[in-house]
Amino acid sequence: KKLFTPRDFIDVEGKDIYESADYFQVFIDQMDNERANAFDITTTTPTGSKVKVVDKYSGKELSAISFVSSNYLGMNMHPKVKEAAKCAIDEYGVGTSTTPLIGGYLDIHAELEKKIAKMHGKEASLTYSSGFAANVGVAQFLLNKNDIAIVDTFIHASMYDGLANTNVKIFGHNDLKYLEMVLEKSKGNYRNMIVIVDGVYSQDGDLPRLKEICVLSRQYGAYIFLDDAHGVGVLGKNGYGTCSHFNLSDEVDVITGTLSKAIGAIGGYVAGSDQLIKYLRHLSRPSIFSASLPPSVAVSASKAIDVFSEEPQIIEKLWENTKYARKTLIENGFDLGRSESPIIPIMVRDDMKAKVIARKLLENGVYIIPATYPAVKLKDSRLRMNVSATHSQSDIDYFCEQLNCINKEMEFK
Ligand code: PMP
Repeated sequence: KKLFTPRDFIDVEGKDIYESADYFQVFIDQMDNERANAFDITTTTPTGSKVKVVDKYSGKELSAISFVSSNYLGMNMHPKVKEAAKCAIDEYGVGTSTTPLIGGYLDIHAELEKKIAKMHGKEASLTYSSGFAANVGVAQFLLNKNDIAIVDTFIHASMYDGLANTNVKIFGHNDLKYLEMVLEKSKGNYRNMIVIVDGVYSQDGDLPRLKEICVLSRQYGAYIFLDDAHGVGVLGKNGYGTCSHFNLSDEVDVITGTLSKAIGAIGGYVAGSDQLIKYLRHLSRPSIFSASLPPSVAVSASKAIDVFSEEPQIIEKLWENTKYARKTLIENGFDLGRSESPIIPIMVRDDMKAKVIARKLLENGVYIIPATYPAVKLKDSRLRMNVSATHSQSDIDYFCEQLNCINKEMEFK
């Protein structure tokens, strides 16, 4: 039986947009027939460690311990953060209705950008409406056909989208030998060479070999661009991210990130030198043609950074939970790949099986997303667990018990 993947429904030959959309129903039906649809789920509570979701098949509300959100620190529900957002709405209203350059740049945006710059050890920063927009906006603007982006294969989709109009060479994950070979071959042939990596890889939860990557890049005259979406609030002094963790803030030229994960709000940013940020502020398209962040978002993001940098016990709890989850799952024989962060893959290595396991877990009170093709290779399908400071050890124990039960039936260890 053919196992469809989402790829089968993109650019379908001979079908127009409506025909393609109709055809996509085959994929939804296949997932539903296997009772494996872990995606069409509506949550009726905050996206914290305990959630309620509406079951697609029974229409009933289910309670579950959730590992799906990158809400590493619970900042979306922190009383100080919520209070700051409420005050901002009272003072500034719910939106700006204009772009930063034409009247939408408030004092609270300036304050947030200053805080982000400080966090990353950079002179300045610029916010965008999402991390996705930041990656696209920066990469698309800084690089053109005269340049080359030399990228780790596992960088985020948004970065790849931003590289559509430049030359791209992909190196195997953390493969320094291959990186050096590409740098050597490219040297002298392009206006800019930029090496692009993530701070924490979003599917495997491992880190870049940043020290060696910086040394090599400098040696061949390449710039370094790091997407720290999953590093902030998790790694480094005060949760200041991956460059702080490696003590390499001065070596990395451009850092992008998101306000939507550990920071708990929405939005993205780029941090770098004063001049570079000014250049982007006046010319990067998703900034100049898109409204500025809503006041409540700007203020809650600022407050969240204050909270996690001033209350170290929150990040300590995240790591305590992460270590406990790793230890428990490894002792029970599960394969966690290369993870060294709160992103913990539980390898299943079979696309449909991963989806079915996720569905069974949901029926038994655990909500976790299967990471399947095309997010990862077919043979690398897994469940992706995101640990948070708001989980308890009994949440993790319960999850492990349920995994063991399902493993008896489906054998995936
Ligand atoms: N970069 C990485 C590594 C991510 O995982 C994500 C979110 N999935 C983004 C960028 C985009 O961030 P946002 O959700 O703010 O658009």
